[in-house]
Amino acid sequence: MKIIDIKVDIIGDSVDTDPDKGGVEPLAIVRIYTNEGIVGLSESFRVPPGVALAVMNGKDSFLGSRLIGQTLSHPERLWQLLYDSILHYNRRGWITMCIGALDIAVWDIYGKMMQQPIYELLGGIQRSFFQHPASSPTVEAVPYCTIVSEKWDCEDMICSQIERALLLKDLGYRGFKVEPMMSSIENTIALARRAREALGPDVMLAVDVGYRFNDVNSALKVCREIEEYDIYFFETPFPVDSFETYKSLAKRTDIPLAMGEHSVGRSEAVQMIKYGDVSVVQSYISTGGGLTEAKRLVASATDLGAMYIPGNWSTQLLGAATVHLALFSTVTPYYEFAPAEIFDSDLRQEIQNLGLPVVNGAVHPPTTPGLGIEIPQSLIDRFRIDG
Ligand SMILES: [Mg+2]
Repeated sequence: MKIIDIKVDIIGDSVDTDPDKGGVEPLAIVRIYTNEGIVGLSESFRVPPGVALAVMNGKDSFLGSRLIGQTLSHPERLWQLLYDSILHYNRRGWITMCIGALDIAVWDIYGKMMQQPIYELLGGIQRSFFQHPASSPTVEAVPYCTIVSEKWDCEDMICSQIERALLLKDLGYRGFKVEPMMSSIENTIALARRAREALGPDVMLAVDVGYRFNDVNSALKVCREIEEYDIYFFETPFPVDSFETYKSLAKRTDIPLAMGEHSVGRSEAVQMIKYGDVSVVQSYISTGGGLTEAKRLVASATDLGAMYIPGNWSTQLLGAATVHLALFSTVTPYYEFAPAEIFDSDLRQEIQNLGLPVVNGAVHPPTTPGLGIEIPQSLIDRFRIDG
């Protein structure tokens, strides 16, 4: 089987969508075509559309010229081929994120070719016993819901995030992350406390402050006040290019620190575990370099005693890739989920409806070969924003 073409289409709710309000910002849908009719599907989150087109669309694109014509064999070989081709260019940033998107589509084709769901080809279900929530002894991938609000740093933020979390809890979701972004220390503490009080003791609760602090003492003050609310992790207290701030805070709080949602390639995440004492890394499967690189990050995180809880503020197309990784990984008790139920986005809802279903707060291992999700052309045509 040979790769004969790669097509990139840009879809989204609109060109100027505010992703912090739950809309789908311009998103590259990537399809790899083969001479045997099998098509691999993927997406690339937060790669500017013009870059995605220049790097991946068709045989004249930077990576398309390298991938088209290749025989479809194990995805790791094709990943290495692409990675080796950029060693004299930009080895991080958008180009590696594009390799990540292509790698997911290659895994989709490989799964369809081998008639296996991707998690089986990654190594099979290897989740550990400790990762099974008490309420569910069966093997499943468990999403946690990220909750945002229209307003920040005020009573409205606290009330609306708690209201949304309670709605989702009623739907069966088991994990939540509140987001006191751009907020005072007082409102950050209040949201964590009131969310735990409202949700009860049995659900997972994490807090994301979105790079809010520059000094360790301010972040420490928050951590000390919210430790008693059983916070699963405290996300991105500082800008992520400073190991020392994370390391210093990690020494002084019992709450696990999380970072790496936008880490590109496994090495950034690994360095943060090693030198920043971060215990939860969060690379998106696409941004991090694809399923091939995510599998390696599972091994590295395991060696270093950390968890890998992949982020995903994109759609449930990337979510499907994330589920396969979570089912394979021994260090991924949860993965991030942007629930369409609480956002005003038809596109987000429609892709979620097409994706792997969340039932009673969890996704059971799919049996469909490949990713297990297909995006119909009609949806791409309807939400197309590339003209
Ligand atoms: Mg975040």
